[in-house]
Amino acid sequence: MSWTEVKSIATEDPIILVPIGAIEQHGPHLPIHEDSIVADWSANYIATQLKNEIDILVAPALNYGHSPTFRGYAGNLSLAQNTLRLVVGEILDGLVASGFRRIVLIDNNGGNVAPITSASLDARQGHGILVGHLYPWQLGYGLMRDAYDDASAVYGHGAEPEHSAMLAMFPEQVHSDSAVKRPFTQLAGWNPTSYTEAKIGNNSVPGTVFWDFSEISDTGVSGDPTVGTQAMGELWIERVMGFCCDYVREYNKNTQNGACDVRP
Ligand SMILES: [Zn+2]
Repeated sequence: MSWTEVKSIATEDPIILVPIGAIEQHGPHLPIHEDSIVADWSANYIATQLKNEIDILVAPALNYGHSPTFRGYAGNLSLAQNTLRLVVGEILDGLVASGFRRIVLIDNNGGNVAPITSASLDARQGHGILVGHLYPWQLGYGLMRDAYDDASAVYGHGAEPEHSAMLAMFPEQVHSDSAVKRPFTQLAGWNPTSYTEAKIGNNSVPGTVFWDFSEISDTGVSGDPTVGTQAMGELWIERVMGFCCDYVREYNKNTQNGACDVRP
């Protein structure tokens, strides 16, 4: 698209979806650019589904994110938290300067959420725009729980429902036979239960401690990465993308004609 086309399309006040990912490990069976390709896939899927009812465009993706937890594994290309906050803020600045005011970020990495929240709230104050946010992996945890006998046993990084979703979206990039389930390594006297959590006595809630994930996991995986199926991934697409389309419909309805804009 040329700059003159962008200028003319902006006058129609479309919704812009901005895919944001990360380059970080997801175990030996999944690719390091997984969060990025899924963010981009999701944005394009949503735009295609809604193209006959909503004026909607997908912006070029930001494929790097903030992943400090996984810096102990090869291929971790993580921006600092403040760098990502600035980059996202500057992308929002550029979209506003080009005439766009309705923006939904399709962000697919947990480490990105804090810097993106900060940049989006700054844009609310600085530009008066209402930025939307969708996090497909996180939505999947909430929307797929009843599809498993025991979701808490199989959910995890590089495990369910992410492994299944990847089998449905990018089967050629998944090497399921390399997936291994191994318990966390104990660190000193700590008994890790997830990335930054450990069991504390007989308490029902864990306590937080900030180690690098590589200190407690040699595979980079939590949960059970050996149970993924393409059929479960199809269900993930149906449920998660169904929610995302409903979200964008709601965003479209509520932001028409500058209804949510704050202008100085
Ligand atoms: Zn990830």
